[in-house]
Amino acid sequence: MSVQFPFSAIVGQDEMKLAILIAAVDPSVGGVLVFGDRGTGKSTAVRALAAMLPKMRAVVGCRYHCDPEAGGSACEDCKALKLAGTPVKSHLIPVPVVDLPLGATEDRVVGALDLERALSQGVKAYEPGLLARANRGFLYIDEVNLLEDHLVDLLIDVAASGENVVEREGLSVRHPARFVLVGSGNPEEGELRPQLLDRFGLSVEVKTPTDLPSRIEVVRRRDQFERDPAGFTEKWKKEDERVRRSIVKGKSRIAEVLVPDAALERAAQLCMALGTDGLRGELTLIRAARALAALQGAAAVSDEHLKRVAPPALRHRLRRNPLDDAGSTVRVDRAVAELFGA
Ligand SMILES: [Zn+2]
Repeated sequence: MSVQFPFSAIVGQDEMKLAILIAAVDPSVGGVLVFGDRGTGKSTAVRALAAMLPKMRAVVGCRYHCDPEAGGSACEDCKALKLAGTPVKSHLIPVPVVDLPLGATEDRVVGALDLERALSQGVKAYEPGLLARANRGFLYIDEVNLLEDHLVDLLIDVAASGENVVEREGLSVRHPARFVLVGSGNPEEGELRPQLLDRFGLSVEVKTPTDLPSRIEVVRRRDQFERDPAGFTEKWKKEDERVRRSIVKGKSRIAEVLVPDAALERAAQLCMALGTDGLRGELTLIRAARALAALQGAAAVSDEHLKRVAPPALRHRLRRNPLDDAGSTVRVDRAVAELFGA
């Protein structure tokens, strides 16, 4: 595997880094949508984060790299092995980041059932697809707005349920597919339907830095990295290690983080002020705030956590307001300032 640009060395893009960290700590926030121009390194942060995560223990030979401790969420093959009492061999593998290329067929994504073989030989001939490879990792879609709606829908469904079910003419196969969905979009190339937008947990905007010092720093680090990847990575190792520890700890303590009634009330007030449809916004806001609290080692969700995650949790859920042509980020910021005080 080639050396990955260190996560901590990415200049700026704080909101995107935060969104991915939150999704890594609590994948149930739903996927992350990254909007930005070409060449802003949208996929760098995802790859850098995955490379930084501790390797995961997986069953040798399992096509879905199940966790040997998985129990109920393991695939059928692993469950059968366990039931038969067969000793299971495991090894450590890197957290997968799978790219979903544009133009990928549904078979390639969900896997292919060979009906002919199934009928003639009576075996379940199933060739796993990209969703199988992404299990327990990240699925990255470049230009998600150019993907067919039904495919986006399907991906969000699988990401939410953690299971891929393939059904063809009365045959069916299911396997675990838990992954963090990260979709990038170029705002100039087609829009996502609002119904699909709303199904992503967080959305962030990435821009090329406009201030001189940041631009210089981006180029300087890139150049240093490309000239001496090992040395550059070594320089950032400590900082990456600190982030890694916060993720591991965040995951282990998220279940204990308290969500006080006051926080629930604030979240509801904010969503009402912004007129977001349904309850998904509030739920995501609370979950993201809780993941942030866990990352920071806080015991409970506070106003600060809610304020910080409000823009990525809500900006893609606003309806167009004909009387207000301000951008959605401005509208969220304004509502936050009104509710929490500047
Ligand atoms: Zn398995």
